[in-house]
Amino acid sequence: MTDTFFGHVIDGEEVASIDGKTFDVWNPWSQEVFAQAAEGGPEDADRAVTSARRAFDEGPWPRMGRAERAGHLHALADLMEARADELATLDSTNMGKPFAQAKHDVGRSVWNFRFFADHQRDHVGEVYPMDSGHHSYSEYGPAGVVAAISPWNFPLMMATWKAAPAIAWGNTCVIKPSEDTPASVTMLGRLAVEAGLPPGVLNVLNGHGAPAGSSLTADERVDRVTFTGSSQTGRLVMASAATHLAPVSLELGGKGANIVFDDADLDNAVHWAVESIFRNSGQVCLAGSRLFVQSGIREEFLARFTAAAEALTIGDPFDPATKFSSLASKRHFDKVASYVEGVGDDGGTLLTGGVDETGRWLVRPTIVTGLPLTAPAYCEEIFGPVCVVNTFDSEDEVVALANDTRYGLNAMLFTENLSRAHRVSSRLRAGTVWVNCFFIRDLRTPFGGVGDSGVGREGGDFSREFFTEPKAVVMQI
Ligand code: NAD
Repeated sequence: MTDTFFGHVIDGEEVASIDGKTFDVWNPWSQEVFAQAAEGGPEDADRAVTSARRAFDEGPWPRMGRAERAGHLHALADLMEARADELATLDSTNMGKPFAQAKHDVGRSVWNFRFFADHQRDHVGEVYPMDSGHHSYSEYGPAGVVAAISPWNFPLMMATWKAAPAIAWGNTCVIKPSEDTPASVTMLGRLAVEAGLPPGVLNVLNGHGAPAGSSLTADERVDRVTFTGSSQTGRLVMASAATHLAPVSLELGGKGANIVFDDADLDNAVHWAVESIFRNSGQVCLAGSRLFVQSGIREEFLARFTAAAEALTIGDPFDPATKFSSLASKRHFDKVASYVEGVGDDGGTLLTGGVDETGRWLVRPTIVTGLPLTAPAYCEEIFGPVCVVNTFDSEDEVVALANDTRYGLNAMLFTENLSRAHRVSSRLRAGTVWVNCFFIRDLRTPFGGVGDSGVGREGGDFSREFFTEPKAVVMQI
């Protein structure tokens, strides 16, 4: 099959849907359909889970030595590295991400496989010699079949963040990429076959949330559901998995607070303010979409932030000069544009940006001031390049403002005062706090969110706990 068709990858083969149905795959920059993908229905989901189940129950993967399994994951990572330009081209074409950013995401995806390949070798279990003379030890055996459902904003990176630990720990998996971005994940499935992973270990099921995704979550042969996407869909996924008591890990939406204190290194704070809300056109769960600047530096900070936003080169994702491009789909453009268009009615002012007038699915880097704290653009996840700025005077005030949200994925703070950095980090209700930086991840640390931002944590040993069935063995010696 050619790259103009993205099939399912099931049991080591790329296949069309049983009923032959397909859907359009778009290039949002050119606003053209560039491929077709297989539209997964309940029977295709059944086929994918059957393949994963058989590979788990009868295949070599869960029984394989850890070094051998790690070798397979590194072989896949090697292939991904060798084909990095193709993978990045697919993500840039399919979602409008600047090519350099897509290339960076491929690097992170490769690292997901390498990190968890080694992690499962090094974190085998613990032994506790007991005072009673017994020995107690823990064992982390694979859980079974994992359904990994991923979003469109980091198509390859998000899918590998779920699939890599799942298979590293000896499970088999079915990845269901977003219907908006099937391209790079389908290629990942092809590369897994080429790398020699046993059939059925890494399957890809294309199609829409319902019925493809919902058929996976409802299938009682699925032992774990790991999901990244919106809070609204997360609720449906959790309810469906609950019908057969499959544990869920949910990485959901965000409305990140970015706090700039008056003693911050302003060059650094401006740099990260721009990165955190305009990288990937703001289509980042961790985006710094609510910016709080201390009153004394408001004018200077806003002048610099606005200038930096306006300096971003907007254009074709494949032009090396491009730093900022279109939104990922017409549907998403309509959503982001409606928030921007509502700003004036709600009493806010656009310092810069707005909806592009050229007919592209583009919203320019947008900075908003003066919005009431009840305005939808302030409270809700826009998932686009829209930063709402407010001021504060005291630490207590800004902590209360930052925490006053249903979300709790992440926050950033910029200060040169070490005590304040620790104090405020500890008071913020968020799964991750970045101090004087953004987006840096150590894969050993927990990743996840509070409140509407998620359920559970992944990363390092947290992924091990989720993707295994920990067992205690107590032995009299
Ligand atoms: P979405 O919830 O619309 O879709 C996510 C995935 O779920 C897609 O693959 C979709 O097909 C599938 N899906 C939809 N309905 C389903 C159902 N009933 N059953 C099973 N699967 C179903 O989200 P999206 O628009 O693709 O992604 C954007 C959202 O993802 C934002 O809210 C963003 O904040 C969030 N996100 C969170 C993180 C994180 O780590 N917390 C990372 C990236 C994106």
